[in-house]
Amino acid sequence: MDIKKIYMDADALLEGHFKLSSGNHSQFYLQSAKVLEDPKTAKLLAEALAEQIKTSGLKIDTVCAPALGGLIAGFALAQALDVRFIFAERVDGVMNIRRGFEVSKDEKVLMCEDIITTGGSAMEAAAVVKSLGGKIVGVAALANRGFCKRENSDIKTKSNCKLPQDIPFFALADFTFEMYSPDTCPLCRDGSEAIKPGSRGN
Ligand code: ZN
Repeated sequence: MDIKKIYMDADALLEGHFKLSSGNHSQFYLQSAKVLEDPKTAKLLAEALAEQIKTSGLKIDTVCAPALGGLIAGFALAQALDVRFIFAERVDGVMNIRRGFEVSKDEKVLMCEDIITTGGSAMEAAAVVKSLGGKIVGVAALANRGFCKRENSDIKTKSNCKLPQDIPFFALADFTFEMYSPDTCPLCRDGSEAIKPGSRGN
């Protein structure tokens, strides 16, 4: 399965000059919501990810995603794995599990995101699951931005990766494009202006 082609075909891998939430600039931007707008594609991707996880032999009771980004990928993955799905959400900036979701003691929870960059949100949500007694057994994402080592890839973990190294991380593909600080950005030097994805209808 050519994941990058699926993203390109869905206009989910954008090329231009983007200002990322970290403040860095990039020539590319991944808009995973766009690849998931077709439920058939979402199902196909989730099933491929579920296949990797099943092959590894990892046992999972529940998939948990941080809202909003991980919701669709997480739900589709839980469906493909035939396990329960819950989500964590920010309330006044603090990650929380609400909506009557319960986590039982030692419940095996897989954290799921659409994209793992450094894994910060996934780990904030994981801390809430752990505080309720759950056990984090792995992390999954459709796309890996290349800062964290995943199963079945040669990419090495970078210092800014926040995922624990003692549990597996599953993703379908690595999207390792360059990021630049604004003062050294070659795209800025060429005279174009970085746009915030979402600010012009993307
Ligand atoms: Zn720039």
